[in-house]
Amino acid sequence: MGSNIKAIVLLSGGLDSSLATKIIVEQGIELMALNFFTPFCRCSRKKGCHSVVKYFAEKLGIPIRRIFLGEEYLKIIKNPKYGYGKNLNPCIDCRILMLKKAKEIMEKEGFSFIVTGEVLNQRPKSQTLNALKIIERETGLEGLILRPLSANFLSQTIPEKNGWVDRGKLLSIKGRSRKMQIFLADIYGIKDYPCPAGGCLLTDPAFSKRMKDLMEFDEINLRNIELLKIGRHFRLSAHTKLIVGRDDSENKKLLFLKEMNDIIIRSENFQVVGILKGCVNENIMNFAAKIVAKYIYLNSKKVVVDWGNDKKILYVNEQKEDFSFLSI
Ligand code: SF4
Repeated sequence: MGSNIKAIVLLSGGLDSSLATKIIVEQGIELMALNFFTPFCRCSRKKGCHSVVKYFAEKLGIPIRRIFLGEEYLKIIKNPKYGYGKNLNPCIDCRILMLKKAKEIMEKEGFSFIVTGEVLNQRPKSQTLNALKIIERETGLEGLILRPLSANFLSQTIPEKNGWVDRGKLLSIKGRSRKMQIFLADIYGIKDYPCPAGGCLLTDPAFSKRMKDLMEFDEINLRNIELLKIGRHFRLSAHTKLIVGRDDSENKKLLFLKEMNDIIIRSENFQVVGILKGCVNENIMNFAAKIVAKYIYLNSKKVVVDWGNDKKILYVNEQKEDFSFLSI
């Protein structure tokens, strides 16, 4: 089976796509893995997501290509044709974008079909039978997306009809339970799969709330999205936002992501760091200093404001004000 047939697999680093890859490799199909990543991936590179996916592909002797979806991905979040899931996750549009990219490569480089780890009905919005059909129609890939984990519940694809893969060796998994996948992972010896099955950050209610705020105030860009992943966020006005680090590592990241016009509001020893972004006047600056001061656990609430080359020292009285209503 499968001699001289080359296919692309979408390898996310999750268990399902790892299993799908393994099943198709075992049928003698030559695979190339595409690993798409977006600003909303949950696994940081520190945790080695990229290297674990790479290691898995290398172990199977498969070349891997990493593709970042940035600005064009942000466009679909603002206005997804097929709407959002439970939170701000535009899963159907997201899959369409990834598969369109995969299709381009498939056609340009002589691959015959595409393999994914999708499981019928695992996700309520993007993996229903109807959603899978929409994805195929929108990408023009009817019959060319093979989903080995659920293949026996789906119509025969071209690779099955042509005998490139043996349908009898494909699986019948559907639904949300992951018992079968975990069982198979054990059999196949797949241990490190860094990405959880739960989806990207856009499926997280708290993160989605912050994203909605960015969208409402038209502040979506890659840097602002990086900032959403850290700190406490306060919306001070339609054009002003304060972000306060929760620990030393977040403080460092804030200082790294700071833009030229941002104002740093901090404790003297940098144990508390806030970044004030947007349009600022004296009142807003003083107000932001009060918020930052709340996190300075010293008797004397001395707050330093770094503004371009200027520096200002403010003394904020111990106050009991609650700023949680500004928190996003
Ligand atoms: S969970 Fe996130 S990455 Fe996964 S399909 Fe949905 S939007 Fe795309």
